[in-house]
Amino acid sequence: MRTVLIPLFPVLLILGLVSCGGPDREVNVLASSTGQGTAPASPALTPDETEALRFAIEDTVALRVEAGTVRSGQSLSHLLSPAGVSAQLLHAMATEERGVFDVRRMKAGNDWSLFSGPDGSPRHFTYTINSKEYVVFDLREGGGARRGEFPSETRRGYVEGEVRGSLYQVLEDEGHSTTLALAMSQVYAWTIDFSRIQAGDRFRILYDRDWVDGKAVGMPRVLAAEFVHRGRNFPAYAYDQGDGTDHFDETGASLRKAFLKAPVEFSRISSRFDKKRFHPVLKKVKAHLGTDYAAPHGTPIVAVGDGVVIKASYTKGNGKYVKIRHNGTYTTQYLHMSRRNVKEGQAVRQGDVIGYVGSTGLATGPHVCFRFWKNGQQVDHLREEFPPSTPIESDHENRFAEAVTSWREEMARFDGRSEVQMAAQSP
Ligand SMILES: [Zn+2]
Repeated sequence: MRTVLIPLFPVLLILGLVSCGGPDREVNVLASSTGQGTAPASPALTPDETEALRFAIEDTVALRVEAGTVRSGQSLSHLLSPAGVSAQLLHAMATEERGVFDVRRMKAGNDWSLFSGPDGSPRHFTYTINSKEYVVFDLREGGGARRGEFPSETRRGYVEGEVRGSLYQVLEDEGHSTTLALAMSQVYAWTIDFSRIQAGDRFRILYDRDWVDGKAVGMPRVLAAEFVHRGRNFPAYAYDQGDGTDHFDETGASLRKAFLKAPVEFSRISSRFDKKRFHPVLKKVKAHLGTDYAAPHGTPIVAVGDGVVIKASYTKGNGKYVKIRHNGTYTTQYLHMSRRNVKEGQAVRQGDVIGYVGSTGLATGPHVCFRFWKNGQQVDHLREEFPPSTPIESDHENRFAEAVTSWREEMARFDGRSEVQMAAQSP
């Protein structure tokens, strides 16, 4: 057993996750190389030559390298003037090569190196833009600059585990898992409220991660995941249908879900969100912090988005009502039900029937009073803008289904369990 501590976006809570599949198995199944394709340094090379090879620098003379880290306030001229680079060349680097790299964007803390010839003349300057990319300026006659990528490889990783107990402090730094948790919280931002995950929730994650020089770099890319939250499975599958990778559930619905426009079908809006409404029952001006949808008694009321039922209760004013927390930002409430169909603590998915239209509480006729909170403030949901959410399009359905099958098979190979077991828990 191994403890993996993950802070979760966006509230940066620290939850203890216990991996039950042994340590993360990060294997080199799809090793794909990027970058300049430089072969691994052979032991016969000198350190200077190895360094030149890292940046794919070729020269006719033996090179000596001097390397350092950009310090706060240091500019290109601070670094290169003492080495004898002319003001004219510095100017050319800053202007003519701006399209390749704008030297004003050099950041403190990033690495640089200067390669000189046997006579001490500066010949190449490198600046490491980020863990994957660098730029090389040719300081010789004719000059020029080019960008490159360090040779990297992609390794596939798999982790499964169970959320255990309450929150506790970070006991050890698990950098690897921290970014994976962040990647997961982004995938599930609209689906699972990670600030409310609870003991017993389980997860399986298949991901790719880039490695440069034996170090994991950048964010892991979640290829497929299953998160069983409060007994309900929320799968996520990566797929690109031409406009970038997005995550979808098993039906091809985007996980970046917009909310449904209304909690009841075939309804009409009988009263809008209005801070100065004359209340028909109370006979006085009272803010109406919701939208009323009139529909026949018994019409199903659905959850407008994925979430967890935080209230399924009754008050004299609200009648029978349900309140759902969707994520750290949004909460919705549905009033005057004739009957509730969910229990507190239950996870729901968008479109699930959570109750039926009625007129319990302060209501003149059968309707749902739909209330919408954004960051704790009641707002008019009809005026809110939500992220676009495109489902898998029909011409991608077959390829998406194949991708889902292969991700599921791959996860099953990793954990050795029947993937049907997990799949059976999806609704
Ligand atoms: Zn209302």
